[in-house]
Amino acid sequence: MIKQKKFILQENELPTQWYNIQADMVNKPMPPLNPATRKPLKAEDMYPIFCEECCRQEMDQEHAWIDIPDEVQERYRYYRSTPLVRAYALEKALDTPAHIYFKNESATPLGSHKINSAIPQCYYCKREGVTNVTTETGAGQWGTALSYAAKTFGLEAAVYQVKITLNQKPYRSILMRTFGAQVTGSPSMSTRAGKDIITRDPSHQGSLGTAISEAIELATTTPNCKYTLGSVLNHVTLHQTVIGLEAEKQMEMAGEYPDIVIGCFGGGSNFGGIAFPFMRHNILEGKTTEFIAAEPESCPKLTRGVFKYDFGDEAGYTPLLPMFTLGHEFRPANIHAGGLRYHGAGVIVSQLLKDNMMHGVDIPQLESFDAGMIFARTEGIVPAPESCHAIAAAIREAEKCKESGEEKVILFNLSGHGLIDMPSYSQYLNGDLINFKVSDEDITRFTKDIPEV
Ligand SMILES: *Cc1c(COP(=O)(O)O)cnc(C)c1O
Repeated sequence: MIKQKKFILQENELPTQWYNIQADMVNKPMPPLNPATRKPLKAEDMYPIFCEECCRQEMDQEHAWIDIPDEVQERYRYYRSTPLVRAYALEKALDTPAHIYFKNESATPLGSHKINSAIPQCYYCKREGVTNVTTETGAGQWGTALSYAAKTFGLEAAVYQVKITLNQKPYRSILMRTFGAQVTGSPSMSTRAGKDIITRDPSHQGSLGTAISEAIELATTTPNCKYTLGSVLNHVTLHQTVIGLEAEKQMEMAGEYPDIVIGCFGGGSNFGGIAFPFMRHNILEGKTTEFIAAEPESCPKLTRGVFKYDFGDEAGYTPLLPMFTLGHEFRPANIHAGGLRYHGAGVIVSQLLKDNMMHGVDIPQLESFDAGMIFARTEGIVPAPESCHAIAAAIREAEKCKESGEEKVILFNLSGHGLIDMPSYSQYLNGDLINFKVSDEDITRFTKDIPEV
């Protein structure tokens, strides 16, 4: 019998609904709060910022299944399904009895999973008569996906990119401009929020927090312009469940079911995307799959953060969200996994972590690139620096299996490829990369300024 390497769904087998885990959660996430009144927000309260359908999806704790609009399904078919791949070569290199599978979200034309939410967000904006969309981007993956999706639906896109990554990853801004977006480094002098940040710290290199503040300001001061977000929020993770729903069918084709599901963790969308469809069977049928979110050691909100209401952005414009956070003024080190440099975790994941449905692991930067190298040299795909964290966590588990002799089935999400992150690999290969561990003092300092509600 041939050893099947990859499992691919036909276009007529793709999911037609997203999975909304909120409906099945035993303890529902607590509501977001209005930052001024500290009263719980309703979906309508967020209409000035986001398109209305996304606000409704954000707050939906009733419907476990939400239809994917036909136009969105049509666009998904441009690149889905992504392959589920058995990592035979990686298994062999690790000499592990574990069966390692990865869902290859790098196999989209834009190189990451972000497009899965960019398409529906732009579709709903278009349907609601919006003409302009704006956003922030860290590593540039989200901005790229949004730029393309906006063009697809005839919208104008304005993207604020974290200054440090604009410089570290110059090709991403060229990609965004190729798709017709306008790109600005954040913090910038083009918004009140940006000016305030630069006044306080002229050498500020930017963070997702600063870029979010600027994009929200633009959205709320420009007619017919909506803000879009590539991670953290519930509706984004909802859209990403296409990953896990496909993977569920593909694992069935492989005749296996995962013992461990792993995703790297920035705000939680690719992790939730692959994990929630499987976690549903833990909740509803008592399955015992383990879920591991792999975060960078330099931004350890899951393992060392506090569970509190905090702002989503540096300037404190966003609603207060109940989340595991390092404080909205926390400044993560300039690691190459720009997409994982965010101070907080999405509210669904935060609640699930609190309820011990999953756990986090911290991966030092060097270990992440070590893992990326092994993966590149075995499976032939250069992973995004973010995805390297998931690979590192998978390797840790595979090594435990080697010690115990257990034949566990490990599934991780390969959230993106690293073909335009080669400056990071260059630094690694030249021996110039270092680890950044956060001190307890820093964690105390930044978490003590979180407002009490
Ligand atoms: C944005 C990004 C991430 C982190 O975001 P999540 O919402 O946590 O998934 C991870 N990997 C890649 C390749 C990204 O672009």
